[in-house]
Amino acid sequence: MSPTNRRISSVFQQVIDRNPGETEFHQAVKEVFDSLGPVLTKFPEYTDESILERICEPERQIIFRVPWTDDQGRVQINRGFRVQFNSALGPYKGGLRFHPTVLAGTVKFLGFEQIFKNALTGLPIGGGKGGSDFDPKGRSDGEIMRFCQSFMTEAYRHLGDRVDVPAGDIGVGRREIGYLFGQYKRISNRYESGVLTGKGITWGGSLVRTEATGYGTVYFTEHMLRTRERSLDGAKVLVSGSGNVALYAIEKVQELGGTVVGASDSSGSVYDPHGVDINLLREVKEVRRARITEYAEARPQAEFIPDQRVWAVAEKTAVDVALPCATQNELTTEDAELLVRAGTAAVAEGANMPTTPEAIRLLREAGVLFGPGKAANAGGVATSALEMQQNATRDTWSFEYTEQRLAEIMENVHDRCAATAEEYGVPGDYVSGANIAGFTQVADAMIAQGV
Ligand code: GLU
Repeated sequence: MSPTNRRISSVFQQVIDRNPGETEFHQAVKEVFDSLGPVLTKFPEYTDESILERICEPERQIIFRVPWTDDQGRVQINRGFRVQFNSALGPYKGGLRFHPTVLAGTVKFLGFEQIFKNALTGLPIGGGKGGSDFDPKGRSDGEIMRFCQSFMTEAYRHLGDRVDVPAGDIGVGRREIGYLFGQYKRISNRYESGVLTGKGITWGGSLVRTEATGYGTVYFTEHMLRTRERSLDGAKVLVSGSGNVALYAIEKVQELGGTVVGASDSSGSVYDPHGVDINLLREVKEVRRARITEYAEARPQAEFIPDQRVWAVAEKTAVDVALPCATQNELTTEDAELLVRAGTAAVAEGANMPTTPEAIRLLREAGVLFGPGKAANAGGVATSALEMQQNATRDTWSFEYTEQRLAEIMENVHDRCAATAEEYGVPGDYVSGANIAGFTQVADAMIAQGV
């Protein structure tokens, strides 16, 4: 083992020891570290300045009690988290996730990813993430409101438009951002628009923010495909999930001439050979907040598969592109094998870390283009930064202008990853390209700003 690799393994072991049991965080760190050998050899200052050690330790972590009253008048207790990971490039920025599986390690892995993703956007935002183990499923509007208010009653003292700017993630959409913003305003007595992003359009939100993660993932995919003289036009596509990211990824794929033949939620998947009816899916998931089974029932040509792995659809049809847009580690080696057999040319991650490390290896060895989440889904947070720009200048931009900015940012993210991969002798390796480009930018800023 070279001295550099020995050093990387020893820091990685330190990360494991200091964060016991946080396997998703270990996985996210390992994925970045695996790309960094050549960088540390080339730039000894990163080692001299202990950048690896510093970048893996959050600047601040906040864990707090969130008490709230349910509709039966019972007091419920959840746990709230905010990890303020790295502020070298700007105020901490990253979403809040409300899901029963959320633990400190989940928020840490997401915050770690966010550092590099935010750097790749080229916009001045640091990395952070937060959330709660609160389960919004089946909760009334009143319960959601009381929970969000209680969450913000503690969180507000740690936030600010120049300090830390949360947004949505799984389980947190415009409704939740509204309740959170209202409570921040009440407590602070400030109309500080830029303290949260993903706001409603009439009260400081940005057009395109809702669509941005899904649209951006599709733009990124299109740029990857172009490097092989292919495109989404005429492509058969599988999208996992049917939340905000998936819905707008489906919409954009179909706009660009592709056919999305599968979508899913935690209750199962649908195979819709002539293309998913996006309006019906949106009605079922966003308006009725119902399960995807209702979509299948309303659409005779669609087949319901009682398997939340939409990748099973690849047993029935050829698949050109796969977009995992649900959650972490949802695409395993078995799924990757299926996709390769079905002829898949590209996989791009709309979710954060949805592909297991073994599945990524398998896809790449089979020659499949692979866009990691920190690059492919950066459009969401990038448009959050555009929302912050509009808030700071008390301006509102048109849909067309904002989408144009998003498209340019995604092209830059793609080109930056591709150029960095090329520079380090691994052309077409977007994982290394994203990790190295994001890391060096943050590391240089950290060095410039001193210990
Ligand atoms: N949760 C999104 C992400 O994973 C968006 C974060 C934001 O807009 O701050 O990047």
